[in-house]
Amino acid sequence: MMPCEKYHTGGGGTVIVCGRGKRKQNCACGYTGTRLCDWKIGAGKTCDKPMCPKCTYEPAEGKDLCPAHAAQWQARQAVASA
Ligand SMILES: [Zn+2]
Ligand SMILES: [Zn+2]
Repeated sequence: MMPCEKYHTGGGGTVIVCGRGKRKQNCACGYTGTRLCDWKIGAGKTCDKPMCPKCTYEPAEGKDLCPAHAAQWQARQAVASA
């Protein structure tokens, strides 16, 4: 029995993920999804798409984005720096 699991994030920090009655979700590549997309979709919710450490995109320490939202984020950055 392990209600909460601790994962290491890319930036040297750790994140504690507690079970919320959901089954463990896999990344799109089939690997265990240890990270969730932090993209805000409004109403205090985030995308929460599961990703493995290989498939995530980290725009900042402790943040993870799924491939679709990473593309959106990068598009925004491109506009901001233009
Ligand atoms: Zn993956
Ligand atoms: Zn996402």
